[in-house]
Amino acid sequence: MAKVTRYRNYRVVVVPRTPVSYGLPDNHRGWIERCDEIAASIRRHIDNVGTPLVACDTADVCSFCGEPWDAGEYAGPVCCVAADEEHEREQARCKRHIDEIENHGKD
Ligand SMILES: [Zn+2]
Repeated sequence: MAKVTRYRNYRVVVVPRTPVSYGLPDNHRGWIERCDEIAASIRRHIDNVGTPLVACDTADVCSFCGEPWDAGEYAGPVCCVAADEEHEREQARCKRHIDEIENHGKD
């Protein structure tokens, strides 16, 4: 048996220019607004096509340093000291909560 690649979900992908060129901010809201404008133009000007969809990829990043989020299921983040310290505080909070639950009603 050999691997076979089948093709499906054919579509046209439109890569927008930066929203800054259109007076919009270079952030998620700006990119979505620019993509919505392009989708509206496609609907208005091109006949006999399916619905244009606006989509984007996502990436998990550290809220402190912006590096890719790379933490194992049980390990803490390894990108920066701030993320590691927050992870430690969260672990301590979880342990206190578990202790409270386990000791509830034992007085
Ligand atoms: Zn970080």
